Amino acid sequence: MTKTQPLSRRVLQMEESATIRMAQMARDLKSKGHDVISLSLGEPDFDTPDHIKQAAKEALDAGYTKYTPVPGLVEYREAIIRKFKRENGLEFKMNQIVVSNGAKQTINNLFMALCDEGDEVIVLAPFWVSYSAIIELAGGVPVQVSAGIDDDFKVSPEQIKAAITPKTKALIFSSPCNPTGSVYLKDELKAIADVVAAADQEIIIISDEIYEHINFTDQHASIGAFENVKDQTVTVNGMAKGFAMTGWRLGYMGGPAWLAAACAKLQSQSTSGATAFGQKAAAVALDSDLGPTHEMREAFAERRELVIAGLSEIEGFKVNQPKGAFYVFPDVSYYFGKSHDGKTVENSADFCEFLLENAHVACVAGSAFGADECMRISYAASEAQLKEAIKRIGEAVGKLRG
Ligand code: PMP
Ligand code: GLU
Repeated sequence: MTKTQPLSRRVLQMEESATIRMAQMARDLKSKGHDVISLSLGEPDFDTPDHIKQAAKEALDAGYTKYTPVPGLVEYREAIIRKFKRENGLEFKMNQIVVSNGAKQTINNLFMALCDEGDEVIVLAPFWVSYSAIIELAGGVPVQVSAGIDDDFKVSPEQIKAAITPKTKALIFSSPCNPTGSVYLKDELKAIADVVAAADQEIIIISDEIYEHINFTDQHASIGAFENVKDQTVTVNGMAKGFAMTGWRLGYMGGPAWLAAACAKLQSQSTSGATAFGQKAAAVALDSDLGPTHEMREAFAERRELVIAGLSEIEGFKVNQPKGAFYVFPDVSYYFGKSHDGKTVENSADFCEFLLENAHVACVAGSAFGADECMRISYAASEAQLKEAIKRIGEAVGKLRG
């Protein structure tokens, strides 16, 4: 007799990250000898700039091999305070900063610290796949407020106002946005700040700015800089995207001291903090010239043009122009209801499966991001791979009939 696995309801109810699952499916297919192009994972294809790697080597030699304070190495938190002031107009003290093992852990800490069972969190949709899973894991209820491609995937302040209830604890969004690449401009953020500030209770705004440096408009704005919400905003950032440091696992937040203390308390019972020599090198990264980051941004900008032009040529793909990050999020619902080889594409997951099987191109279904009519294509890949992927997608969709 097979015994049932004694797993918790918590883990049974949660879904694995769709981005990570799709990247693994692509790797598996590749290992079987198929020529798969993976445009699934949001990971810069560049290597970490040399001066940052060098700083980590020096830090190791200098003995940065021990535990650091749970909320982060003092030198790194000082560099983060300088960065927030210089680039975002945000003023923080040391006790308002917490460094974690990636921004994903930062966001986990925040929702674990904020949510009781049934508390609502307004999530501006389309949203990064892990927000809803993390909120649910913490017992909270994600409340989606959505915008479609015709609104550049940006929700209005009126929509947010209508979603606020006495149970609303927090609001989260990313700008530049994963998965849409949309950027909320300063006056749009001001309008959101005004709605949140006018609510009866204090609603915590979580502003995920991890794609800050991959912005083609040169107009990054931080909602936490507005006077009326500055004491109720947490600004989340990390090293992964702007510095091509995904595998270093370094993220951080600046926010109210009481919330930073709660996050540090949680972290003291989970990871005890991030890697010492990595933090030392990250401090160097934040303080140094952003030349390499800007070079990566320029490369992404060129690829964006290539991808938009290529996809716009494909019948049934509705594409907008993302202003940041390295994703495009076309509406592909034109293909829903069409079939090939006896299989009908009913939704975005079916469409992505169809592309993986018939074009050997891995993308992520829009349903994972709260927008089933779309799919996410990461263009953090070489121009040659992108051109080939677009060609294959165009050929494959030509087989869908009905
Ligand atoms: N926020 C967004 C919007 C992301 O796309 C990601 C993906 N990496 C994260 C947070 C988490 O970043 P990290 O790799 O630092 O955990
Ligand atoms: N954030 C990236 C993505 O959206 C990396 C994968 C993940 O952390 O889920 O693809």
